[in-house]
Amino acid sequence: MDLSILAGELQQKIKGKILINEPLKNHTTFRIGGPADLLVVPAEVEELPYLLEFGEEKGLPVTLLGNGSNVLVRDGGIPGLVIKLAGGPKQIQFDGTGVVADAGALMPRLAREAQNRGLTGLVFMIGIPGTVGGGVVMNAGAHGQCMEQVVTRVETIGPDRKMRLLPPMALQMGYRNSSLQGNFNYVTRVYFKLSMGEKDRIREQMEHNLEFRRQKQPWNRPSAGSVFINPPGQAAGFLLDRAGVKGLTRGGAQVAEEHANFIINKGEATARDVLALIEEMQRLVIKLFGVELKTEIQVLGEDLNRRG
Ligand SMILES: Cc1cc2nc3c(=O)[nH]c(=O)nc-3n(C[C@H](O)[C@H](O)[C@H](O)COP(=O)(O)OP(=O)(O)OC[C@H]3O[C@@H](n4cnc5c(N)ncnc54)[C@H](O)[C@@H]3O)c2cc1C
Repeated sequence: MDLSILAGELQQKIKGKILINEPLKNHTTFRIGGPADLLVVPAEVEELPYLLEFGEEKGLPVTLLGNGSNVLVRDGGIPGLVIKLAGGPKQIQFDGTGVVADAGALMPRLAREAQNRGLTGLVFMIGIPGTVGGGVVMNAGAHGQCMEQVVTRVETIGPDRKMRLLPPMALQMGYRNSSLQGNFNYVTRVYFKLSMGEKDRIREQMEHNLEFRRQKQPWNRPSAGSVFINPPGQAAGFLLDRAGVKGLTRGGAQVAEEHANFIINKGEATARDVLALIEEMQRLVIKLFGVELKTEIQVLGEDLNRRG
């Protein structure tokens, strides 16, 4: 398979950007990840049906990324076509208290734009560095609020390349979960219903939330946010802290000193380092509490040895 020929063929059909053998560490907040055969950043949502068709026609597996802020891409990278929506379609349209945002729009930008219009409901998004689409898939949330509370409809595209408008109920959104995880339906646009609020009050709440993160999380170093979801009735961070994992290191990956549920990339970490650290963190928590922690981070791609 000659990737330049494929890229050339694709470029004749779409306006979006196409990169060949692109290291995905350039596209994840962890700054980790081997190459994508072809990385495409579409120019508009309407290019997606064509990209899916192209993938199918050429036998290229398709993987969708938002802003890569909740993923660990393995060191062998992701074969086939990787479509990255952050940096691509990002329109946001307001209509009274209703909003529709392209899946590639970043959540902190949406939160700011809503605040500028005196609309409340999206304050929780201010410190979550993902896209609106990724936010729906993960049912992202913070400070007691989450996506499912404000989303009214989700536009998706499936393997049949038809766009569908679904109510959130159809997506089984639960704690950091939805039926869109690991399935082949992709979010293209998201509709929200907000409430009128007071601009200054909303700004204050956002500043408060950001300050909380600056105090408690390694917000300015490469990571993918919380590594594990909270087990029922317990905080993963608390269990991990008690298990003494802070500062634990494997290669270039280290458990943050600020928060035991964050792994940071000290510079040259590989996915293998992170996976080894995850295993050790799980082992220590099982040993002390008998609780099996499950990852929130989505692990994608192939090991180095499988790609050769
Ligand atoms: C510093 C930091 C702080 C964070 N804080 C929080 C927090 O407070 N709360 C929280 O919930 N999360 C938090 N996160 C995690 C992350 O930002 C969220 O999970 C976010 O919703 C992921 O969005 P994304 O666009 O980056 O998705 P990605 O990481 O790119 O993708 C996540 C998963 O969704 C899939 N996906 C992405 N977009 C689409 C789409 N349009 N259609 C179908 N599938 C798609 C991907 O294939 C992948 O499986 C944090 C991360 C960091 C780095």
